[in-house]
Amino acid sequence: MKFRSTRNVSSIVSLSEAIEQGLASDGGLFVPEFWPTFDLKSDLLNKKLDDLNLAEFAFEILKPFFRNDSLEPFLMEICSQTFNFPLPLKSIDAQACVLELFHGPTLAFKDFGARFLALCLEKIQTLNQKPKLILVATSGDTGGAVAAAFNEFTKIPVAILYPQNKISERQEKQLTCWGPQVHAFAVKGTFDDCQKMAKEAFQSVWWKSRFQLISANSINLARLLPQMIYFAYASLQYQKNNKKNAGLIIPSGNMGNATAALWAHKIGFPIEKIIFSHNANQTVLDYFQTEKWNIRPSVSTLANAMDVGNPSNFERIHDLYPELAELKKLAEVYSVNDEQISKIISDEKTIFCPHTATAVFVRNYKVSGNWIIVATAHPAKFDTIVEPLIHKKIEIPGELEKIISKKSTFTEINPLISELESYFKE
Ligand SMILES: *Cc1c(COP(=O)(O)O)cnc(C)c1O
Repeated sequence: MKFRSTRNVSSIVSLSEAIEQGLASDGGLFVPEFWPTFDLKSDLLNKKLDDLNLAEFAFEILKPFFRNDSLEPFLMEICSQTFNFPLPLKSIDAQACVLELFHGPTLAFKDFGARFLALCLEKIQTLNQKPKLILVATSGDTGGAVAAAFNEFTKIPVAILYPQNKISERQEKQLTCWGPQVHAFAVKGTFDDCQKMAKEAFQSVWWKSRFQLISANSINLARLLPQMIYFAYASLQYQKNNKKNAGLIIPSGNMGNATAALWAHKIGFPIEKIIFSHNANQTVLDYFQTEKWNIRPSVSTLANAMDVGNPSNFERIHDLYPELAELKKLAEVYSVNDEQISKIISDEKTIFCPHTATAVFVRNYKVSGNWIIVATAHPAKFDTIVEPLIHKKIEIPGELEKIISKKSTFTEINPLISELESYFKE
């Protein structure tokens, strides 16, 4: 299989090239050239489902996407190491389940994509002689997942830019605890400043002459492919247990998960509907209502990992469904404000993180029928928001406990690319 840019159908690359490049040279995003189909009744898939062997299930589904690429021989190994933590699908009442994506090392769904990306990059035989450097600007969860994955599986250095004093203490710990391989930069500025510095580096001759810079954000194909797996798995499992198909309600920001769910539906998995639950950032809701794509500055909310005014993966969704009317047959959008998020966290028996609360709100107040609510992070990561609302302490999972007890190191810099450069000159 080859992959093409969303902006130019003749701009075609291999899987390995798409992963190393991140963004296509024309500024578009990589998408599969065609969609494989699966025999869902096959003994093989059903057996994997019964055994709960997620790594083998993933291997069967991802095989066509890896065909004829130099990564193909490593796919089973990559899947085994990516999908090696639990993926519970918990029934909460007669019609709804919660799919918990937060049992990885940094307690958010981003662990799946970050681990898969790190393992792919570790195996790719590059012709590029320059040292690789992963550069990420993060507003919270991405940086932690990427740092943990590259630290576990590779020797590739990682540089993380994050806005000082603008992320939670536990999120900061997940960026700064990894030792010399992961350089965390506390930027005296905003997330937008961090993103601007990263963009400047990617375009700068100075950086390009010294490093093979690689982006680890959710535009990278290697983050999206494994995200299809848990939606495929959950939809089949729900169908098996309930003799009915369910829809997915997905807390959405940059729309990587939303894209992966649409892809899982496209290759034939029994997903009845897909709902994007956004926080107060309404770019996608506006598009559904006006058919106009008007990006806006992001607004800060309790669900900070979804504070995105220009969801970059929407370009892939638009590529798959150029006609809004077609997309609307399958997908719906809701925007959930902070007050509604807080209400869900205080009211529900189960403790939800602020992101997951947007999906629970939609399911409780906006829709009826059979649903899988996608839980994107563990509430313990957002203790300062959740604990005052539930009036008790959240138990800290072992993975987070380990990280909290480590020593933090970071470098404070002004929001100037020259300050980042002087660090790498040494
Ligand atoms: C990143 C993130 C989201 C948003 O996911 P997208 O794929 O960018 O839409 C939602 N919830 C949590 C906890 C996240 O970390």
